[in-house]
Amino acid sequence: MSGELAINRAAPIDGKGFAAEVRARVAEHVTRLKADYGITPGLAVVLVGEDPASQVYVRNKGIQTREAGMVSFEYRLPAETPQTDLLTLIARLNADASVNGILVQLPLPGHMDAEAVINAIDPAKDVDGFHVSNVGLLATGQNAMVPCTPLGCLMLLRDRLGDLSGLNAVVVGRSNIVGKPMAQLLVRESCTVTIAHSRTKELAAVCRAADILVAAVGRPKMIPGDWVKPGATVIDVGINRIEEGGKTRLVGDVDFDSAAQVAGAITPVPGGVGPMTIACLLANTLTACCRANNLPEPEGLTA
Ligand code: NDP
Repeated sequence: MSGELAINRAAPIDGKGFAAEVRARVAEHVTRLKADYGITPGLAVVLVGEDPASQVYVRNKGIQTREAGMVSFEYRLPAETPQTDLLTLIARLNADASVNGILVQLPLPGHMDAEAVINAIDPAKDVDGFHVSNVGLLATGQNAMVPCTPLGCLMLLRDRLGDLSGLNAVVVGRSNIVGKPMAQLLVRESCTVTIAHSRTKELAAVCRAADILVAAVGRPKMIPGDWVKPGATVIDVGINRIEEGGKTRLVGDVDFDSAAQVAGAITPVPGGVGPMTIACLLANTLTACCRANNLPEPEGLTA
């Protein structure tokens, strides 16, 4: 890498700081809802089984929900719970007016059909945005609940770049939870969007054409700096644990050190996209609550 480029090192996009701002805006709005209408948004999180990572996520979601002034309902079910019991719980939460958002923590134990479970959630309370109705609403440009991680990426991009229209966006990864909804959102912003995946030919050249490069693959440091267009905005969704120098650490799908020499802006891992995901879950719960009560949606917190 040349010395000149090294001097032009991109400033990291501070997802952690931005997520704190989003949570503060949500909390402010919640305070007003309580004062003006006596309404407190509620989020129900359901965890089936004892997966350690899922337990940490669920605990953090509960803490941040309460910090935002919302009510947190937590349900922890044993791994061997029959699917019918989970569906009964979901039906009860669907019918409970104090619950505005329902999140079933994934992955579910092997004996459960995750699609059937997710599609049992009332789409209006589907704050993860995974229900097939919300997928369809997003694809057709209607008022969907938008999946939290892509929504967080979009907020960071808008904050950084303002108007995204006409930009070339490349999304590497085509999962239902990140890649595809991310691409849908960027199409809605009038970007020219390419979705790349494991069968994409000439991936390096495809990435080099991107003004906006979103990596959602799950392969540590797969995208090196010389795949990045000079000045591009790079959003690294990947969260990968690697062993380095006898220690475990988190890295993204992008090789941060080399990409930061070339990019205009880049999200670090950790501290980039990750914190935005829970912040957007709170934003979605607030949005769901406003919609349920026919109140105006919070500005700047939706897609
Ligand atoms: P999936 O495993 O569901 O999807 C990975 C995608 O990457 C697939 O579409 C796959 O292609 C593609 N892919 C795999 N290998 C290659 C390759 N060599 N070249 C190009 N594309 C490839 O992952 P997720 O979308 O669920 O997650 C992606 C990453 O984001 C993970 O690291 C995950 O931990 C992280 N993540 C982070 C979140 C956050 O809050 N920051 C939230 C959710 C996920 P194909 O379809 O052809 O197999």
